[in-house]
Amino acid sequence: MIKNGERYGRALVIGGGIAGPVVAMALQRVGIDSIIFEASPVPSDGVGAFLTLASNGLDALQAIDAHRPVVAAGVRTERMVLSSGTGKFLGVVEAGIPLTDGTTTTTIERAQLYRVLHDQVLPRGIPIVHGKRLIDLEQSPDGVLARFADGTEERGGFLVGADGIWSSTRQLLDPEAPRPEYTGLLGVGGVARGVDLETHPFSFEMMFGTRAFFGFLGAGDGRALWFANLPSRPEPDRAALEAVSPGAWRDRLLEAFAGDAVPVRDLIDATDQNALRAAPMHTLEPPRSWHRGRAVLVGDAAHATSPSSGQGASLAAEDAVELARCLRDVPDLGAAFHAYQRLRERRVRRVLRAARRVNSDKAAGPVARRIRDAVMPLMLRTMATPERQLWLLGHHIDFTGAVGGPRTLLAAA
Ligand SMILES: Cc1cc2nc3c(=O)[nH]c(=O)nc-3n(C[C@H](O)[C@H](O)[C@H](O)COP(=O)(O)OP(=O)(O)OC[C@H]3O[C@@H](n4cnc5c(N)ncnc54)[C@H](O)[C@@H]3O)c2cc1C
Repeated sequence: MIKNGERYGRALVIGGGIAGPVVAMALQRVGIDSIIFEASPVPSDGVGAFLTLASNGLDALQAIDAHRPVVAAGVRTERMVLSSGTGKFLGVVEAGIPLTDGTTTTTIERAQLYRVLHDQVLPRGIPIVHGKRLIDLEQSPDGVLARFADGTEERGGFLVGADGIWSSTRQLLDPEAPRPEYTGLLGVGGVARGVDLETHPFSFEMMFGTRAFFGFLGAGDGRALWFANLPSRPEPDRAALEAVSPGAWRDRLLEAFAGDAVPVRDLIDATDQNALRAAPMHTLEPPRSWHRGRAVLVGDAAHATSPSSGQGASLAAEDAVELARCLRDVPDLGAAFHAYQRLRERRVRRVLRAARRVNSDKAAGPVARRIRDAVMPLMLRTMATPERQLWLLGHHIDFTGAVGGPRTLLAAA
């Protein structure tokens, strides 16, 4: 019997962020070789100082035996404690549903997450080639040809676009595909060192300030990971943002939280000032089809939920593992890609909808803010219970289960 690894040939994985390394490891598990091409000449640190990998994302990594190093390098994050700018306690939301081995949602510096994933990929014999920006793609009935900005080319059996929210692969597959949409929020954050704040253990403290949103997590080792979301419309252009000096960002943050019960000054002052920079936060509606011919999209290239959901990296890991499972079980490439999209789409759209609601709370005007602060405690008590979060944080991928089996159909429902 021909195995699908032989049938489909080698995968060219475009992008060495999160989805790329995870998909390459998952493909290896199902007997498919791959090679990762990353645009950045050196391992990149991406945008956003850190991110949270929720329990569902760790579950996906666990399916390919890759979650432990991530958990070891991260900060356990059991809950979010929410308050208003006046310091009024609004409620608590569970951040994760522990896996059977007790691990749960973890917040990790982005550069560390990339390193931890790369450190797992290389010993598994999966090559990562840096400085390879995909610029063109040719498809034939039996393979793909990827062209890179440095003038080189590579042939493979199929191609996986894991090249993030500004994906070239997506544009090459469908020039009409949706483009990223600005959420109306700028994200800025950093890692404060040598701070001694009074915090709830293992808890992300989140504050709906008068003018902006703030969050921080004490790591228990003198570090505190913090971020702010600043409402800002229209979308500032990238060059204008880059022209803003770190000192000006500091002033802007202090001004945004002036009068709020937020330890912004302590945290900024303990953060490397050169790292202070803001980026517009975007979302991306998935295209109608996530694949064309012998190429398919995973992670932010296919859909991007705003950082407010804390789910982008986790969904990317889930996509990667589910794609490998479909390629293992479905003996036709197009049908495997179709099964993968079918398995993922409903869930991804549901997360996107939920994140959109959180964004509007963060950018609330004075009246909406008063209503929000009044109704949120009740809403959190009734809507944000662990049972209500089960669909999101308790999502489990049965990697050994056959695609098309009863559990798969339940997951897609
Ligand atoms: C400020 C901020 C905070 C965030 N916080 C969280 C959080 O707390 N929790 C969470 O889950 N998510 C968070 N996210 C979202 C999360 O970062 C993404 O969802 C996640 O990184 C998606 O992984 P990915 O591998 O699909 O894309 P990426 O991590 O963006 O990786 C894509 C890779 O492809 C490379 N690439 C791009 N174009 C090409 C090309 N043409 N050829 C070759 N390589 C290419 C890029 O250099 C990059 O390395 C945040 C995002 C931002 C911006």
